[in-house]
Amino acid sequence: MFCGFCFFVLLLICSLWHTLQAGFTDFIFGSDILRSNRRVMTTNFCPEYSHSGFFFDFHTYKQHFAMNNAKLAAKSNQQQSLVQISDNVTFGAEEIIIIGGPCAVESYEQMETVAEKLYTSPVKALRGGVYKPRTSPYAFQGMGETGLKVLAEVKDKYNLPVVTEVMAISQIEVIAAHADMLQVGSRNMQNFDLLKELGRAGKPILLKRGLAATIEEFVMAAEYILSHGNSDVVLCERGIRSFDNYTRNVLDLGAVAALKQITHLPVIVDPSHAAGRRELIAPLSRAAIACGADGLIIECHPVPEKSVSDAQQALSLEEMIDLVYTLVPVAFSVGRKISNRKVLSRKC
Ligand code: PEP
Ligand code: MN
Repeated sequence: MFCGFCFFVLLLICSLWHTLQAGFTDFIFGSDILRSNRRVMTTNFCPEYSHSGFFFDFHTYKQHFAMNNAKLAAKSNQQQSLVQISDNVTFGAEEIIIIGGPCAVESYEQMETVAEKLYTSPVKALRGGVYKPRTSPYAFQGMGETGLKVLAEVKDKYNLPVVTEVMAISQIEVIAAHADMLQVGSRNMQNFDLLKELGRAGKPILLKRGLAATIEEFVMAAEYILSHGNSDVVLCERGIRSFDNYTRNVLDLGAVAALKQITHLPVIVDPSHAAGRRELIAPLSRAAIACGADGLIIECHPVPEKSVSDAQQALSLEEMIDLVYTLVPVAFSVGRKISNRKVLSRKC
């Protein structure tokens, strides 16, 4: 009984000391930068605290520390960033940017059909993987450089910027020479060497959230790219793993709202890889825009059931066009806009 009481008093003293110490330091180190440096040192110095649950408020406090460590990504340092990938496509402005296209580039004819159908709609950029991260090493791995040439030709013909995935440092140069935006896939979100090198790539980066990454890990992955010299980073929520296998992943729209509050980077949503089922793409897209996303990246294919990868989540091109028009009033209701592309720019 007496021991229990002593322990409780000790707990109280420690908690009070911790709180007073934090307040005192905030008082001494007035500026944000000094404060964040000091907080980094404190977390590094006492990492065991993070798991102890010893202090009543420690969990919140620790999160506060870590986000302050994201010196370049945190909103406090800067207002909303704009990331421009071509003359008329900029993420983070009033306009919602929609990227559409197949999971993988399969042929010139396929990409040309996609671009031909979409280029007059509100879809502003094309997607298509040429280096594919597949679960099985026996599955289609992508067309590689031949696929990049396909993307470049279609981009040129329809004046549509293209986004494609980079999986390795050795691919950066060639992809940067052909594409307008380099996508870091979920499986590579914490490939730190790749992220550092993308800091020097000179092209905008679409950084997807890791399969099981926390919001903090996601922000810190962006921080790697920013701190290595590239300020053009767009975040992409694409669903996280959970226990339920009805959907492929769980779309974390809470993370979208949080990321918009804690970072100044544009945030877009990939409902295709989140849901893994085509019938869920439209409602999730509407919800994403309603909760503040700056754009969407959606998989679609001329013949969805023939898609070499991710067939069950691919929309037909007609479904894609219908969907983007249903998003117009949703965007309007949250003070954003979605508009058609000007048709003038197609080359013959
Ligand atoms: C993709 O966009 O094709 C892809 C593989 O996405 P993710 O990395 O989110 O799984
Ligand atoms: Mn895919």
